[in-house]
Amino acid sequence: MLKGRFGKYGGQYVSETLMHALIELEEAFERFYPTAEFQEELNGLLRDYGGRPTPLYYAKNFSRLVGFKVYLKREDLLCGGSHKLNNALGQALLAKKMGKKRLITETAAGQHGLATVMAGNICGLKTEIFMGIKDIERQAANVKKMRLLGAKIKPVKTGAGVLKDAVSETLREWAACSRTAHYLMGSTVGPHPFPTIVATFQSVIGNEIKRQILEKEGRLPDAIVACGSGGSNALGAFKPFIDEKDVRLYFVEGGGESLGADNSAAAFQLGKPGVLHGSLMQVMQDTHGQIRPSKTRAAGLNYPGRGPELSYLCEAGRVKPCYAFDHEVFEAVKAMGKTEGLIPALETAHAIAYVLNHREEFSEDEIVVINYSGRGDKDLDTILRYFYGS
Ligand SMILES: *Cc1c(COP(=O)(O)O)cnc(C)c1O
Repeated sequence: MLKGRFGKYGGQYVSETLMHALIELEEAFERFYPTAEFQEELNGLLRDYGGRPTPLYYAKNFSRLVGFKVYLKREDLLCGGSHKLNNALGQALLAKKMGKKRLITETAAGQHGLATVMAGNICGLKTEIFMGIKDIERQAANVKKMRLLGAKIKPVKTGAGVLKDAVSETLREWAACSRTAHYLMGSTVGPHPFPTIVATFQSVIGNEIKRQILEKEGRLPDAIVACGSGGSNALGAFKPFIDEKDVRLYFVEGGGESLGADNSAAAFQLGKPGVLHGSLMQVMQDTHGQIRPSKTRAAGLNYPGRGPELSYLCEAGRVKPCYAFDHEVFEAVKAMGKTEGLIPALETAHAIAYVLNHREEFSEDEIVVINYSGRGDKDLDTILRYFYGS
């Protein structure tokens, strides 16, 4: 396969002004990442700052409810409350090695922006975060945290003032200042080498799952279920299992109210291949080929594209593309709270909902791992409003 290509997906559909930065990044990643020094520094931070390894928790009560064994990979316990820090720490460290002074990025729910300023501060790098004006309003709590930690928030008014516009704006900024700045891409999307770099840093999740399930069960799981949009937590969990053909892989995206509703984010059902932010991938688009922003209530699932590697794995039949509807997602939050006393992020609740509503796809002697990507504190208002009105 060509570098940066996954089947027909991926590539570098960018202006000439960005090519230099991408080549420099690829070379730096290949040079620094394999060294013992980089590995030690990153693993030390993931352990002592981030709290890795995160536990693989046997959810006994939830298992009894669904009728088969379910383990939760507890990325909610990673510092910051989601898997985002795995990638942010890795890229911030890489940027420091490259001699960069500044991190730029974008964020929607604020989880990735928060992880980026945390990692930036550790590595002594300034952080600037592009954020759609709509998202700044919606995610006030995370905006406050990012500002407190010293990030400069750059409001994006172009387009619809949402995530896809913020990504475009950050790419433009990077083209102008890549000599001193690193674009810390938040998911397995964007032009090569970003999808590969992000998937590599997130693979720590799947590597731990493999070791932990072998310790606990003496065998590999029958299935791994993960939610997502760009695909970073899912690919992180899946990658070490891609060649283990007996392990079924389920990717769950936001179905919205229904597949016909304008808040559906089910890009594998509703989208088609197209170029977004420098990469060919599965994308939500209108009949004229214009990118259609998705509006699910789970802010972290609102990227309209699915990363190139994930797009390929789904097309090739290795990963099953699935979705969960909003009413199922909120019921899943309730079920997880009632059985295990945990409040999942709305994104994570999509994976839980899929397992709850498709029990017939798993048999009673099977072991299923849900990648529990984040905690629900950030979604409390949305969840309470759904159940009790405001
Ligand atoms: C950001 C986020 C996601 C979705 O992003 P991916 O790159 O697809 O993983 C899922 N869950 C949580 C908790 C998130 O914060």
